[in-house]
Amino acid sequence: MTHRRTSRAGYLCRPVISRKLAASMKGSSWIRRMFEEGTRLKAEHGEENVFDFSLGNPVIEPPDEVRRALVAAAAETSPGAHRYMPNAGYPAVREAVARHLASVTGAPFEARHVVMCVGAGGGLNVVLLKTLLDPGDEVILLAPYFVEYLFYVDNHGGVARIVETGASFQLDLDAIAAAIGPRTRAILVNSPNNPTGVVYPKESLDALGALLRDASARIGHPIALVTDEPYRHIAYGVEVPWVFASYENTILVTSHSKDLALPGERIGYIAVSPSLPGVDEFVSGATFATRTLGFVNAPAIQQRAVASLQGVTVDAAVYRRKRDVLWGALTSMGYEVVKPGGAFYLFPRSLQEDDVAFVKELQAELILTVPGVGFGRPGHLRVSYCVLDRTIERALPGFDRVAKRYRK
Ligand code: PLP
Repeated sequence: MTHRRTSRAGYLCRPVISRKLAASMKGSSWIRRMFEEGTRLKAEHGEENVFDFSLGNPVIEPPDEVRRALVAAAAETSPGAHRYMPNAGYPAVREAVARHLASVTGAPFEARHVVMCVGAGGGLNVVLLKTLLDPGDEVILLAPYFVEYLFYVDNHGGVARIVETGASFQLDLDAIAAAIGPRTRAILVNSPNNPTGVVYPKESLDALGALLRDASARIGHPIALVTDEPYRHIAYGVEVPWVFASYENTILVTSHSKDLALPGERIGYIAVSPSLPGVDEFVSGATFATRTLGFVNAPAIQQRAVASLQGVTVDAAVYRRKRDVLWGALTSMGYEVVKPGGAFYLFPRSLQEDDVAFVKELQAELILTVPGVGFGRPGHLRVSYCVLDRTIERALPGFDRVAKRYRK
């Protein structure tokens, strides 16, 4: 009876969550859909018989020195070790990060240019875009992109302007120039890239810097170049240039999720170019945003641990071998795949136009991948190779059986 009355009143028709969030969840869930499909297939066929290339969760364990640093940071007994600290992080930790950055970039980084954050996602979403954007401001995103960027921009009232990358997923400077308008506030780049694995060379970044400098002068306000670099140290013999050297208005966001294999620990940092005009005001803004968005500060134990781990990284050669095996095998089967310079993803062209249908064909072979449409580039699929070697080996016959249907 009560139920009928409330239904008639109509208020139960409204979802418990906001309509906007409900719509976002519905439209964004390719990776989650694959995850759910994988769970179903694993229950049906056994975990070891399903080849899950859908997630970017590191397969390598953190190096021993990372574990030791975590234990030591947790065992700290000095008073205040677990209390609040300044919102930007422990001064000594910011100092350690700045010292490392100064030594590898040659730029005069100091602690005042660094804000510790809750993973790169926290850094991008909460601190950076909140710090930069007024409602209606535009952020240029390069497709294919890490899908969360769309939500990060939207969370802060921004508008994403999608620009396609060019041949082999490299920067298309003409397309970027054409997308810049009076509301452009930032461009977000990610190299090594998720989902393509490409690395942008220095000449492209220099040309992008020159373009942004000119465009900023033309539109009358600075365009920030935000560089998201959680895969910087997962690179295979190619140089990953420092973007600071190409453009003064650069903000780096990164984390130790991938390079120390610690994504569950949620620790990263923002580093603002010392030459960014108004750098101190920017860092104050990012610090305020860290506080008021409820992060308050990055986790204390993780901060203390990573202070002593700057320059340490997982063995990227492990991922490189996986890339070589999978890229070599897929290309010889007839898949068209740009050879990645880093990260742990391949982004092959789908062998039929409909990438969702193609991903389903692979699923029938118990191979889980994510359709390119989930990254803003239909006609492709993302294959995440941070998996065990035997998963790659055992999946290859299935990849081949599917490819055979399309070989002339
Ligand atoms: N940026 C890119 C391109 C990513 O691929 C990821 C995670 O997969 C993130 C940011 C977020 O990483 P974090 O775990 O540091 O929040």
